[in-house]
Amino acid sequence: TSIADEPAFLDGKGGYAMLVLISDVTDIELSERVRRDFAANVSHELKTPLTSINGFAQLVANGMAADAESVKAYAKRISEESDRLMGLINDTLMLSELEQISIEEPIEEVDIRETTEEVLRLMEDKIAERHLDVQVTGNAEMKANRNRIRELVMNLCDNAVKYNKDHGKIVIGLSEKDGYAAIEVQDTGIGIPENEINRIFERFYRAKNSGGATVNGTGLGLAIVKHIAALYEGELTVESREGEGSRFTVRMKKE
Ligand code: ADP
Repeated sequence: TSIADEPAFLDGKGGYAMLVLISDVTDIELSERVRRDFAANVSHELKTPLTSINGFAQLVANGMAADAESVKAYAKRISEESDRLMGLINDTLMLSELEQISIEEPIEEVDIRETTEEVLRLMEDKIAERHLDVQVTGNAEMKANRNRIRELVMNLCDNAVKYNKDHGKIVIGLSEKDGYAAIEVQDTGIGIPENEINRIFERFYRAKNSGGATVNGTGLGLAIVKHIAALYEGELTVESREGEGSRFTVRMKKE
């Protein structure tokens, strides 16, 4: 790779890393208790934006918005919270779909480079807005469901954009080795606090530095990534250094 000002940890000068082993099937088959916790979590997460939407709508309905400007401001908040709700519902549906996955999903030869470029085209506006430099190197192919691979790449790239700094860089490295296809996404963003790195793949978990309300997210993206990687006997690694950047690597069986 040729990032001019690579994060220090990318030169092997430090940073911290975590390997997530997900080939264990018991991790994928949710127990009844985890399932119940999940339902409770989802309900809680859905309530928060709904409460805001209801609150702002009532302000307007009760004539509390004195002028056109405040009506506009409240409407904007309602629209933002609705977007959040929609994102949550979509991610939750995606996760429950993944849990019920059957082997009957259409499997085809997936050109990961092509899929990645497709994803990047969809994100063009966001990338331009943040003035990010994005590079894709190498290629990899594997037998998989194309939509799942697109979803996985989309979630990793979305994070690399969201948690980057303006004028930052993203390098997506694709390669094949020993019967595995590897996707590596590295960014020059805010990084992940060391004491939270082992939790980011949990559902709804958002690290302290994720900016909370300022950076949109549901905390479900990486749980989805983990699930998809597991479908293809995958392995996940994350390396990071706060303030410098992160690198996520996913290896999945080619066949
Ligand atoms: P979210 O919707 O919050 O982005 P994810 O499951 O995709 O949810 O990620 C969980 C958390 O992991 C994020 O809230 C953020 O704190 C952290 N994270 C994920 N990707 C990155 C990244 N590339 N750089 C820094 N932090 C990240």
